[in-house]
Amino acid sequence: MAAKAKESRFFDAKETMTTTKRLAYYNQSLSKMVRLGYKKSSRIKKILDERNIDPTKIKTIKDLEKLPLISREQLVKLEMEEPPFGGFCEKDVKTDRIFTSPGPVYEPHLTEKDPIWGRGYYAAGFRKEDVVLNAFSYHMVAAGLTFHSGLRRVGATVIPSGASSTENQIQLIRDLGATGYTGTPSFLMAIIKKAEEMGYSFKDNFKIRRASFVAEPLQPSLREKFEKEYAIDTYQMYGATEVGDIAYECKQKNGWHICEEVIVEIVDPTTGKQLGPGELGEVVVTRLNNIFFLFRFGTGDLSRFIKERCPCGRTSFRLMGISGRVGEATKVRGMFIAPSQLKLVSSKFGDVKLQALVDRVEFKDYLMVRVEAGPEDHGKLEAEFEKVFKEICTVKIDKLEFIEKGTLSDKDSLIVDRRSWK
Ligand SMILES: [Zn+2]
Repeated sequence: MAAKAKESRFFDAKETMTTTKRLAYYNQSLSKMVRLGYKKSSRIKKILDERNIDPTKIKTIKDLEKLPLISREQLVKLEMEEPPFGGFCEKDVKTDRIFTSPGPVYEPHLTEKDPIWGRGYYAAGFRKEDVVLNAFSYHMVAAGLTFHSGLRRVGATVIPSGASSTENQIQLIRDLGATGYTGTPSFLMAIIKKAEEMGYSFKDNFKIRRASFVAEPLQPSLREKFEKEYAIDTYQMYGATEVGDIAYECKQKNGWHICEEVIVEIVDPTTGKQLGPGELGEVVVTRLNNIFFLFRFGTGDLSRFIKERCPCGRTSFRLMGISGRVGEATKVRGMFIAPSQLKLVSSKFGDVKLQALVDRVEFKDYLMVRVEAGPEDHGKLEAEFEKVFKEICTVKIDKLEFIEKGTLSDKDSLIVDRRSWK
């Protein structure tokens, strides 16, 4: 019997490029896209000409800093000014499909051969043996059809169940023997709860063993429930309708690999300047392509780059999840702190109640963190709290203060900015 060819651990060879090769690939693709965009997109020509930028001078990721960030709100405005695509592509662009999303934003997509979402599903272990329920809407928006394409790229059979009711989804799972699910985590939980109400044991009566979530954060407690109680292996993917897939989780489930088709910058949202590894900032995305020349799309999401290589073998740059939205973060000594980071710190100490206070002392930011603790907890907190805080928030605490249990209520803000700039 002929030996079965060993299946690759990776979607393609790009995922294991050396860092030097990846940077060269990114820079070359970017420089090509800028030159092409200058020719084909009236908007890009305008943006560059207004700033006196020679398109041949944008050669590296660092050079992207010269271009402005474009938020979703700005994109809607520009598309209204110059319908349908805001001048970001040729007016009569020939493409396989055009999606819309609320705004409205019109999105010309790359051909159906594009690997969009394929990397994420592959890393999550979806293969041709799988029958997957795709619970994203297929109507107008990019979600349904692009996730469908990604699943087809890894060979899976797709059930386009879209926005059908939970009862319908259960019928499909039961009758068609679905092995996988893609959609939001909350909808999968609603399906499970409904199935239980109908008298099924989701784990014993059905075959769903893998789920890939996107479009909604996956709370750690919910993930644990799916994995422990229902034996569903869960994965997260991350993207934005304007730019497609951005990043995905591998089996390590620790950080997200950035897709090879996008350049991701982490920037200070106020200045647009790029930040270093470990620093929290806005996720800004440029999708490398030859149709839609949207450079530096500001997602409004906060994240940071991970310095360490992933043990899975992929060499791609990685993001440490999403820590919230730009407006929620407070800058302390040039670093952003988001409420979600503080929640993470709190979870490391048994969900201890805490609050960060930012003051200005002698023209410097001063960070005090108040933690509710009984005398029995002081030792452990004194030994480890500041270190864990620094690891998660990257900013050093100036003063750690213990306060009596019950001082803080759920209504109190996690971060209080008391600085006066007068
Ligand atoms: Zn990995």
